[in-house]
Amino acid sequence: MNKPDVESTDEWILAQRGPRNAVDPSRPYAFLNEREFSHRSRLEDVSTVFLTNSECPFRCLMCDLWKNTTSESVQPGQIVEQIRFALDRLPPAPHIKLYNSGNFFDPNAIPECDHEAIAESVSCFDTVIVESHPKMIGRRCFAFREMLDADMHVAMGLETIHPEVLRRLNKRMTLDDFSTAVRLLRKMGVGVRAFILLRPPFMTESEGIDWAKRSIEWAFEQGVECCTIIPTRAGNGAMETLARSGDFTPPAIASLEEVVARGLSLHAGRVFADLWDIAEIARDKDREAINRLNQMNRTQIPLV
Ligand code: SF4
Repeated sequence: MNKPDVESTDEWILAQRGPRNAVDPSRPYAFLNEREFSHRSRLEDVSTVFLTNSECPFRCLMCDLWKNTTSESVQPGQIVEQIRFALDRLPPAPHIKLYNSGNFFDPNAIPECDHEAIAESVSCFDTVIVESHPKMIGRRCFAFREMLDADMHVAMGLETIHPEVLRRLNKRMTLDDFSTAVRLLRKMGVGVRAFILLRPPFMTESEGIDWAKRSIEWAFEQGVECCTIIPTRAGNGAMETLARSGDFTPPAIASLEEVVARGLSLHAGRVFADLWDIAEIARDKDREAINRLNQMNRTQIPLV
């Protein structure tokens, strides 16, 4: 077994952090509607509700999602209250993402006793998309699937198939764990999305591009239907420390274009650039590149 590097341990990662944001466990910390090229091959509205709940038990090196989490579990009923609060204020949409900054099937994050009421609260949607670590795909996931009237999709972080970098991300997951989870989900008729990092720490720009392309291909081979490419960003303390030591540099926007175009050219499934935090890597002169990425997201046609 490999000896852990100091920067890949929970203790080191936690020591780099700043404070959490103040969040209210009775309210989602954000919610929005956006247009997305759906699995039905057309542009459709998707509601996303960013649920406030307790922090993910994993401590991935690049993760900044803990910032909008609580240190204690939310009370039963509060997740349903959050979903209803958002849906009362959002226009109707056929699809919904319930993103909880961690693992939907972690009972410390989303109380299992709320699953039935959550399923009821989203019964008007055609598709419900939740996120989970591959190791949390099991009984709770399949029981929730049975409660839904809608199709279920699960988004999981693959991050990278580079074995050494994946280990150093402290994801506590092997590629076998990921492919096993995909196989179980597909067997249950659940669609699978993968989050793939563009240029995680410990890679040069060209390695970042190469491994993101390879990761997309591998994900599709496992049965993933949709890949979202996330330009790795700073903002969690650990990444700033790695940037100072020369172990992390954010990717160029041209690299994101190249990787997304390559993924789309495979015609193996949908590929999106994650543009939610694109301002982190974009400069004024990148406006045209952002427009092209938006267009590739909307049309699923490679442009570069
Ligand atoms: S499993 Fe996901 S939410 Fe949890 S620490 Fe890793 S990246 Fe963050």
